[in-house]
Amino acid sequence: MKKDDIVRLLRAKGEEQESLFIKARKEREKYFGNKAVIRAVIEISNHCIRTCEYCGMKTDNKELKRYSIRPEEIIDRAHKIKKMKIETILLQGGENSETTETTERVLQEIQGLGLTSILCLGNKSRKEYKRLKEAGAEGYILKHETSDLCLHYLIRHQSLKERLQCLELLLGLRYKVGTGTIVGLPGQSIESIADDILLAKKYNVDMVSAAPFIPNNQTSFRDKPYGNLDLTLNTMALMRLVLPRALIPAVSALKILHQDGQIKGLDAGANVITINATPSRYKKDYIIYTSNRQIVGLDYAKSVLEKAGLVHAGLKD
Ligand code: SAH
Repeated sequence: MKKDDIVRLLRAKGEEQESLFIKARKEREKYFGNKAVIRAVIEISNHCIRTCEYCGMKTDNKELKRYSIRPEEIIDRAHKIKKMKIETILLQGGENSETTETTERVLQEIQGLGLTSILCLGNKSRKEYKRLKEAGAEGYILKHETSDLCLHYLIRHQSLKERLQCLELLLGLRYKVGTGTIVGLPGQSIESIADDILLAKKYNVDMVSAAPFIPNNQTSFRDKPYGNLDLTLNTMALMRLVLPRALIPAVSALKILHQDGQIKGLDAGANVITINATPSRYKKDYIIYTSNRQIVGLDYAKSVLEKAGLVHAGLKD
């Protein structure tokens, strides 16, 4: 697909939008039938050395109570996740070097339970990525956030090049790699969202996501407007068309914009729902976007899939 066509379709409304979603669902069906994935995320630490302007974990946010989960707590949650017949655990956290050791200590045991681990822990060295791969991590999500060079530097205080170099390290180490974009970042153009989609295609990633920007009241972006729902859904549908075999989540932030946001995400071609399995005493301190963030549980995830005509392809008995 050409950039001009992507830009035009990103603006799709009414009938044109509906036919875009139908095409996206058809592509999904070709490769996945009616099967979708439920993942469980454990937010292992909110300590972060970065200063991404949109993110509540930014190091200079002094209002946030910081925590790091102990390996034993992760293992305890992994057992509970297995009981739910969920196959994939996503270990997510702020960028800090300690997460390498914490995760390294749990990956083997998680693998022993027959579960798959995906990590989302930010930029690390090749040596660290290699250690984690060898310890049993299967996938790594490192969203490029925005492919707009200037905007990226302005709001992440780090170059896009550096982020993409990490993505390339992960691909080189044969991880299943995920990337993605935040839709509606202050100063972001529609053209750059088309570039985000093409970037995911260029790297031929296994997982890709589009999440609407949600202003966080503990950041300098607190008064900026929310990302647009239709633009996010159109981005997701186009991601499905360019990467038909990819895992694409209907992120929980969609539910902040609209009660049925996640169902709409699945209707636009997504095939993953993530439930939150962070121990409850830490949940309130993992605030990426907003304090009224949506905590998705298993029953809700299953009901959302059902409404979208999909079933959970979980662990067998
Ligand atoms: N430290 C890791 C994980 C960051 S949190 C990393 O650097 O990859 C996971 C994701 O939350 C980020 O990749 C970002 O895309 C998303 N995020 C953070 N703040 C957000 C906001 N205000 N609105 C929407 N998404 C946000």
